[in-house]
Amino acid sequence: MRQLVLLCVVLSSFLGFAQRLPELARPVNYNLTFAPDFEKNIFAGQETISIRVLKPTSEIVLNAAEIDFLSASIMSAGIAQQAKVTLDKDKQMVTLVVEKTLAPGSATIQVHYNGLLNDELRGFYLGKDEQGRKYAVTQFEATDARRAFPSFDEPAYKATFDITVIAERKHVAISNARVLSDKPGPAEGQHTVKFATSAKMSSYLVAIAVGEFEAVEGEADGIPIRIWGTPGKKQLDGFALESAKFFMHYYNHYFGIKYPFEKLDLIGLPDFSAGAMENTGLITFREALLLIDDKHASIALKREVADIVSHEMAHMWFGDLVTMQWWDDIWLNEGFATWMSPKPVAAWKPEWHVELETVRDAITSQGVDSLQNTRPIQQAAETPAQIQELFDGIAYGKAAAVLRMLEAYIGPESFRSGVKQYLKQHSYGNATARDFWTTLAKVSGKPVDRVMPTFVQQAGLPFVAVRSECNGGATQVTLRQQRYLFDRELFNRDESKELWRVPVCLKEGGTAGSGKTCRLLTEKEARFDLPSCGNWTLANAGAEGFYRSGYEAANVRTIAEDLEKGLTPAERIMLLGDVWASVRVGRQPLTDYLALAEGLQNETSRPVMSEMLSQLEYIGHYLTSSQDQPQYAIWVRQLLAPSIRRLGFEPRPGESEEDKQLRSRVLQVAGGTGLDPEVLAWARKWTDRALASGGPLDNTIAETAFSLAARDGDSALYDRVVEKQKQAKTPEDFYVYLGALNSFTDPKLIERNLNRALSPDIRSQDAVGVISDIMDIPAGGELAWDFMKIHWDEVAKISGGFAGAELVNATSTFCSAEQGEQVRDFFGAHKVPSAERGLQQSLERIQNCSDLKSQQGPRLAQWLTDREVRVGQ
Ligand SMILES: [Zn+2]
Repeated sequence: MRQLVLLCVVLSSFLGFAQRLPELARPVNYNLTFAPDFEKNIFAGQETISIRVLKPTSEIVLNAAEIDFLSASIMSAGIAQQAKVTLDKDKQMVTLVVEKTLAPGSATIQVHYNGLLNDELRGFYLGKDEQGRKYAVTQFEATDARRAFPSFDEPAYKATFDITVIAERKHVAISNARVLSDKPGPAEGQHTVKFATSAKMSSYLVAIAVGEFEAVEGEADGIPIRIWGTPGKKQLDGFALESAKFFMHYYNHYFGIKYPFEKLDLIGLPDFSAGAMENTGLITFREALLLIDDKHASIALKREVADIVSHEMAHMWFGDLVTMQWWDDIWLNEGFATWMSPKPVAAWKPEWHVELETVRDAITSQGVDSLQNTRPIQQAAETPAQIQELFDGIAYGKAAAVLRMLEAYIGPESFRSGVKQYLKQHSYGNATARDFWTTLAKVSGKPVDRVMPTFVQQAGLPFVAVRSECNGGATQVTLRQQRYLFDRELFNRDESKELWRVPVCLKEGGTAGSGKTCRLLTEKEARFDLPSCGNWTLANAGAEGFYRSGYEAANVRTIAEDLEKGLTPAERIMLLGDVWASVRVGRQPLTDYLALAEGLQNETSRPVMSEMLSQLEYIGHYLTSSQDQPQYAIWVRQLLAPSIRRLGFEPRPGESEEDKQLRSRVLQVAGGTGLDPEVLAWARKWTDRALASGGPLDNTIAETAFSLAARDGDSALYDRVVEKQKQAKTPEDFYVYLGALNSFTDPKLIERNLNRALSPDIRSQDAVGVISDIMDIPAGGELAWDFMKIHWDEVAKISGGFAGAELVNATSTFCSAEQGEQVRDFFGAHKVPSAERGLQQSLERIQNCSDLKSQQGPRLAQWLTDREVRVGQ
């Protein structure tokens, strides 16, 4: 699954303490018939499960939730017995009890039941397109297949599925497998679609979509690929189809196992809670992340769509063909798909430099992992709420970054052979973390099975302090590891007991042979020798290690003078992250970071600049006081002036897509943080022109221009944007206008916008995004927080409760002790069970931010005052 938001389940009736199914039987095949009724919002279900009984028993336990059982029987050894049905709502289980004991061996369960087509975006649910046409679709991961059919709803119970759908004639039915037959009936105006027997798979990967969908078709390596959407969107299918074709061929080659599921359907849905879901052979997407106008879409969105298609397709091997044994190893799915997805995208569009985005992503994951309330990659979870909370930045981002480090450590070819062997060994089955690293250790001959547990089973990440000394023409480098924590006091006390086996790569500056030297750091402190004496030492050469490097101040200053020539763009990004990490714990002053930023004034790499710009925004938002804010703005303007001169305000013929995006980002920070009058005037003019024209927009720049114009926008401008949003021609346009509306700072307009979030104008899946976006802007924080508290009962119910966890996480953007208290009090009284860790993380982030502000704020003010003197000379 690909997350947009942290999924969560808050309705207390669904929580309970779902335990594991007893090992009494295993499913072999499910034969399922679904007859959805769009008028009554229900469906009729008929189910035959072929099972293997493992030991003599008179009961079989299945998972089921919101299922109305009409009849149930079990047939064994030629005898059919009616079963007594006992539901346990809290555990989401049902026990079928028969009189005569079932002997080990084959048996079949037969169930007739009714289920709900709910509006909670999970299980089997109803959605609507813009014209109000209904469709029904499934979303089962992690524990919602049980809402559609009684099942052994745990990932290790793999089985084959024979699915039949009885639908209205005008509706198409799609499922995991190809269509076997499509015949009229049984009733007038209906048709019955039978699908072929599926591959052996876990229940959470079963999928059905029923509605008036249309598709564009293609193929790659003989595999049919179709892109589906609701009516009238076929012209938005091209980009996804081209990317999917390219990726199919890439993966077939990379894995050496041909795509195992006969056909691939990808469908964009107007109502969808996550980003996308990797159901076997039928991947479901949030519509805006699949169906785009190739000509006008922002390049960032194209990159995102390509990445998400690539991620979901990687799951066909990692997740669908080979599945984790239990949810504690969800990283084997999500970490792998996240690690894998940039590879085919980089091969398809090298000009996008997605390989540098992976460095930025690693730094983001280091941020989560720097909290005391982080968790190990491998983490026990039993209840649905605990399982949902595992779909976080650790399972996706950290796991991917650790795999990236591992690939660099053993070499890409060795890694690939290991992966191939692991997939081959466990095809159509399940695997654990140990299975994975045992295979890789064997294939590579390196101690992967000793390195990986230190990163997978231990929470947090290492900070590697570097000291280097030139001695007799060679450099002696001393490396010392300790756990990194944002908490300044804890970090500096250095009492952490953790020890990692860290693959470290070193590089020296200014020497002839500037290759990297890689070692395994296994002790708390170790000395490594480099053959010559350079003028600086870099501790994460190649930027592939998942650790933070701590430098001596003099070393950073020397590196800073050599940034462009001495470091690759990836290393520059990592250095920015490392220096910032040292600032956070008071190891280096904030002003060292600003000096580093000044060294990047002529930087042209978009990802490097973007990393720095985000930090400058953060400093402007949180660390400046109202007195020094104007001075900081001037400094930012001066810093960005060379970039604006180079890029200009308007696109230039033949310019690269990277420059186009960089312009947008630089202008956004120059206007938003630097308050540059020229940039703000440009944004207003651009916005007026764009709103007056009826034509499509260049969305790469539109987002920036609109958000800057909205900052001082009045109600007339607000109304014009609302009108435009109502007429949006593509899903992306809708969100570009939505983003503009979320950027208004006039309190009256913020109130209007918050109220609109809960009105029928906004789909329920988007409401929480509006509230959290507004919470994130300085003018909106308090207003959005008050609004959320007043409307909590309504908000918490959205999307079956997904909204609650996202809002808990959104409060992490607060930065004062008082706000921290409010958050603690409110969520103490209004519990969100699937955001327990999320709440602790938010509180910790608020505390850290407030500490950083009190520590670095005065230094920043002094530095700015000193600078202004120099500027005036
Ligand atoms: Zn995923």
